[in-house]
Amino acid sequence: MAGRLQGKRAFVTAAAQGIGRATALAFAAEGATVTATDVNEARLGELAGVPGITTARLDVLDARAIAAAAEAAGAVDILFNCAGFVHQNTIETCTEEEWDFAFALNVKSAFRMTQALLPAMVKAGRGGSIIVMSSAASSIKGAPNRFVYGVTKAALIGMVRSIASDYVKQRIRANAICPGTVETPSLQDRIAANAAQAGSVEASRAAFIARQAMGRLGTAEEIASLAVYLGSDESGFVTGQSIVIDGGWTL
Ligand code: NAD
Repeated sequence: MAGRLQGKRAFVTAAAQGIGRATALAFAAEGATVTATDVNEARLGELAGVPGITTARLDVLDARAIAAAAEAAGAVDILFNCAGFVHQNTIETCTEEEWDFAFALNVKSAFRMTQALLPAMVKAGRGGSIIVMSSAASSIKGAPNRFVYGVTKAALIGMVRSIASDYVKQRIRANAICPGTVETPSLQDRIAANAAQAGSVEASRAAFIARQAMGRLGTAEEIASLAVYLGSDESGFVTGQSIVIDGGWTL
């Protein structure tokens, strides 16, 4: 049976671990030809040899590297802008450096990547799907200590609405994924970072779990399933949306 993404070409950023990695694997399992990119070459190397996946180092903070990657990629059908970093701060504690870095990695990278890959997508005339990684935290629902993170993730919601409006006639769709708390390597770092305040690593982990009404963390594979849907023709009538996938956090 043909996969749900059979014949499609996909480009994924931040694919070395977490949601990006799970999505690159899911895209390939559904028949897509995937360019999986990340700045972490060592972890990215673990995807080398997976059928359908080609790996390439790409630092999404580097405009020239993005231009070169877009040139090499040509016309893709799916672009998944997954790169992002979670700062833990409030408006009072957020530094200028944190603000600038968060906007560069979480927002400007998606702007540059999409701007670089869109012209070939338009020219190919096959339509396409732009997916950006937003979040439920402080962009959909208030979350403590997620000031600049929430501001950047809310910016991405505006970005997809705008792109969706401008390219709807070319059948290029743009949607944002807004997850709750997902078990990934960077979540482990946040759990560890909050352990002192929570009293222990276990208490810190329990606090993250408790946010979801379902009483568990999401898995990277569950988020990847949504990305497969948004990348496939099954979601052909869906554009400009910010889709919450959060185990009931926003209930
Ligand atoms: P992660 O944070 O564990 O890994 C992030 C990946 O991004 C790493 O492989 C890292 O090498 C890569 N990366 C960092 N800087 C880069 C750069 N300059 N260029 C290219 N790659 C770079 O993965 P995750 O937790 O799955 O997060 C992925 C995305 O999902 C992020 O945008 C994050 O904000 C978002 N998100 C995560 C959660 C969660 O609970 N984990 C929830 C909502 C949204």
